[in-house]
Amino acid sequence: THSGYITLMGRPNAGKSTLLNAFVGERLSIVTPKAQTTWRRVTGVLTSQRAQMVFLDTPGLMTPGDLLQHAMVAAALEALREADLVLLVLDAAASRGRSDLEGIEAVLEERPRVPLLCAVNKADVANEEEIAALSRWVEDRLQGEAFPISALLGTGVDDLRTRLEDLLPEGPFLYPPDEIAKDPVRFFVAEMVRETVFEHYRQEIPYSAFCRIEEFREGEDPVYIQAQIFVERESQKRILVGKGGSSIRALGMESRRKIEDFLQRRVYLDLWVKVLQDWRRKRGHLRKLGFPIPDPHPRRRGT
Ligand code: GDP
Ligand code: MG
Repeated sequence: THSGYITLMGRPNAGKSTLLNAFVGERLSIVTPKAQTTWRRVTGVLTSQRAQMVFLDTPGLMTPGDLLQHAMVAAALEALREADLVLLVLDAAASRGRSDLEGIEAVLEERPRVPLLCAVNKADVANEEEIAALSRWVEDRLQGEAFPISALLGTGVDDLRTRLEDLLPEGPFLYPPDEIAKDPVRFFVAEMVRETVFEHYRQEIPYSAFCRIEEFREGEDPVYIQAQIFVERESQKRILVGKGGSSIRALGMESRRKIEDFLQRRVYLDLWVKVLQDWRRKRGHLRKLGFPIPDPHPRRRGT
């Protein structure tokens, strides 16, 4: 299987949401109900037989005028840091001129060494020359691959999706597909806690943490949510909890704020940390967390 993070970039109105919906079709997926504010936010997960694509949004990134400001570039780079692949969406029907493209180029120039694909969107209403010019620009200036598409009509969308899947790194799925399908709200809440872990801790802790929502009682005010953070080692748990529980309290408060903003409800967040020894490398643990782990097959070991 292939899996990874795809950072979506593009001006407002370029067609990012429409494209996500076109990718989704009848497949297993989700899209957040609400615009998000932080630099790293999962907006959709698309799981097929062979690949899992996790889409990250970069809100505010491409707003004209803000673009060249240092803070925005820093935020953009932060969002790009986790990308396995960058997907730029351009609106071929609205000409914005050179300086706009130069602004995009300035941000993308400093991206990590990951592939860049570009959806040259609204091909159904754009003129041929503009589509060709944008495609050339993507190839020459960004060293990317251009895909003329119509997100609205679905034209060219399958080819783009196939190419995205091919270019993602080989590896196991990042999220249990069933869990996302069953209850997207739970998934997003867990993702917000995990995101906060990323913001509060350095080095290996974020990558060793997996968050699962154990209880979600919506009928209550405040909404009662019990979340469990699994880590790989006792030493990580000590760091996560902090002296006298100070770190976990700060993590809980910040996470709760995001969840309240997302749900538009008051929330009581009950946060627990549990060691699941080396869970990332243990078949049984991964299964328990809901990841689809096939039985070991002697000839395919290590793939
Ligand atoms: P976002 O701000 O990048 O998420 O853009 P949206 O997905 O919300 O799309 C902005 C507008 O462009 C909406 O009115 C869409 O219907 C329209 N749109 C998106 N893709 C296409 C396309 O391929 N062709 C046409 N004609 N309109 C499109
Ligand atoms: Mg949108």
